[in-house]
Amino acid sequence: MPVAPRAYARRVRAARLPAHKTLEGFDFAFQPSMPERLLRELAGLSFLETATNLIFLGPPGVGKTHLASALAAQTLDAGHSVLLTTLGGLAEALDGSPSPTAWRHRLRRYVLTRVLVIDEVGYTRLTAEQAHALFELVTARYEKGAILLTSNTSFAEWGALLGNEVLASALLDRLLHHAEGITISGASYRMKDRAALRTTPGAVAS
Ligand code: ADP
Ligand code: MG
Repeated sequence: MPVAPRAYARRVRAARLPAHKTLEGFDFAFQPSMPERLLRELAGLSFLETATNLIFLGPPGVGKTHLASALAAQTLDAGHSVLLTTLGGLAEALDGSPSPTAWRHRLRRYVLTRVLVIDEVGYTRLTAEQAHALFELVTARYEKGAILLTSNTSFAEWGALLGNEVLASALLDRLLHHAEGITISGASYRMKDRAALRTTPGAVAS
């Protein structure tokens, strides 16, 4: 069924993807640790039906946000809703509220979207209240809606991240039960561009 252009445009705006990224635009030759076959398979979007979480792990600049955004864009193209947030943004959005009803209402946005992308897990340490909010969210989406998550932090550090080892282990239990881990190791693409700048004659700022 053709997607109404206005409805599509509305979903694209609501998704808050930081930039238009595609799998075609990803240079797999630059990042040999990233199996292209797996990404092509994920682009078939079966993870939507099985509510399988996709966890992109690796150091900065290796393409975690790029690949998560590309799959999110694919999800939009297939007619579904997407919402991308950083963990910091999510924590702020769910931090305190005038009333429990208003808080539940805020949480709903993150629960009901077909795909939730939580970017940049690891940069922000959560308060006790924020950690509980994240736990509620992951629990509410468990076996219902896929989460795409990017992180530079190993799971062992999630206790420190959430300030609560018991909560972190219960959260990871749910998050990882139906999940595909995609670990990218290798050089930062951002550094590649910077190195090219340094070695290009005349490119150095005067
Ligand atoms: P991360 O989220 O892992 O820190 P990003 O996905 O933000 O990294 O990537 C940094 C920048 O480099 C982005 O502009 C992204 O599009 C680009 N990039 C990263 N890896 C690749 C790649 N293999 N091919 C093409 N562009 C890439
Ligand atoms: Mg990123």
